[in-house]
Amino acid sequence: MDNKTMMQYFEWYLPANGLFWDRCVAQADKLKENGINMLWLPPAYKGATGKNSVGYDVYDTYDLGEFDQRGSVSTKYGTRDQYLNAVHVLQEKGIEVYVDIVLNHMTGADEVEEVIAVENNPENREEDIGEPAPRTVWTKYTFPGRNGKYSEFTWNHTHFNGTDWDEEAQQSGIFLFDGKAWNSETDDEFANFDYLMGTDLDMENPETVKAVTDWGKWYLDTVHPNGFRIDAVKHIRFEFYRDWLKELRGHYGYDFFAVGEYWSSEIDKLTHYLDVVEDSMSLFDVPLHFAFHDCAFSNGHYNMSELLDNTLLDLKPNNAVTFVDNHDTQPGQSLYSFIPTWFKPIAYAIILLRAEGLPCVFYGDYYGIPNDNIPAVPSLKKLVYIRKKYAYGEQEDYFDDDSVVGFVRRGDEEHWNSGVAVLMTNAECGSKVMKLGQQFAGKLFFNAMDLTNIPVTVDEDGNAEFYVDGGSVSVWVTEEAYKDICLNIE
Ligand code: CA
Repeated sequence: MDNKTMMQYFEWYLPANGLFWDRCVAQADKLKENGINMLWLPPAYKGATGKNSVGYDVYDTYDLGEFDQRGSVSTKYGTRDQYLNAVHVLQEKGIEVYVDIVLNHMTGADEVEEVIAVENNPENREEDIGEPAPRTVWTKYTFPGRNGKYSEFTWNHTHFNGTDWDEEAQQSGIFLFDGKAWNSETDDEFANFDYLMGTDLDMENPETVKAVTDWGKWYLDTVHPNGFRIDAVKHIRFEFYRDWLKELRGHYGYDFFAVGEYWSSEIDKLTHYLDVVEDSMSLFDVPLHFAFHDCAFSNGHYNMSELLDNTLLDLKPNNAVTFVDNHDTQPGQSLYSFIPTWFKPIAYAIILLRAEGLPCVFYGDYYGIPNDNIPAVPSLKKLVYIRKKYAYGEQEDYFDDDSVVGFVRRGDEEHWNSGVAVLMTNAECGSKVMKLGQQFAGKLFFNAMDLTNIPVTVDEDGNAEFYVDGGSVSVWVTEEAYKDICLNIE
């Protein structure tokens, strides 16, 4: 079986021209050929900012670019018809489609309501500021532009537990509605991190749970995705997704893949969440992202032998979706922690060429980010291609030095000329003897990352001394593989 490679197929600053779903169709063949066989598409439903919405300011999850709501029919990415067509065409071409599920909050309500609410200390959500008082809040979602099509359900303040704006007082704050509590098991930052933004869905209200469950079934039946990317799971009652996924998988008749975003560098929080949801989803390997980030900014002092320690890749490899950057970590965004250019090929070589984890390549790295004049990551397409064709077989690690570390994949029978040796350093140039195996005795290996270099020869015991330039990664493949890479990747 060939390796799977996911791609996050969007970045924050895509043009809002309603043509993105068509672009997915236009690029499908090239992506598949390069080795991308899973796409995570952005949230497809109408956000409060209409055609300019990236999709996380959810307004109406039933409006996939079909109704004149929030200033436009189309979403930023296109219309419902374009979307359904894109999902269908991608799947026809052998690319699985993962859709973005955002159920923590909603924004852009149609009408205000009068409620009693108490203000909470933003730094300690269990501490009240003053007494409960009348507040005028945007909590009534009636979707007049949709007029009951697909679902008659409308939302009011009883389906939420809090919000952050009092319209009458023109005051912002965290307002917990009378008779409500923040959901009891969520991330414990700020004492309780149930509340993130907008109107927060109360997942302890059975009507709320039913509404999002009915919607989930409708979405599966309408769009036919291969699975889900799930937003902001640390802000939602932990047991919710365990039960919701079980219900939806039963409905769909298919045990589909799901990956959640639990944004924390603390591995214990991620493993705890996986325990609570009974491994019903994978999680993005946020600790690995921060290890890359810290290593890249350590001026060569980060101990590379510890780079993978306390990551999901290390401790829960079967639940790890590894990534380097995403739409939140890119410049200008809320979780800005962008990995610098020089380190990116090292990070991508790790997530793409190792045996464990499902790698997720970022659109902004693959194509560049024109908004910030950031070019595409050099060699990224090449590394994706090497993963597809050559990164197979038994793995042996050489994470045995402060700066120069590596690993080998010994290849397998099924994949022509498979087998790679990977060596990297965050400091000075260096070399290391690594064992590829006696099946390669006498063969030349070339560094696919450098088209001017000289090859190394594997000795009769299957060892070779590989080398790497300062602050870089070298990826060694057979002569036949090297020629194939040169011919197919510019
Ligand atoms: Ca929440």
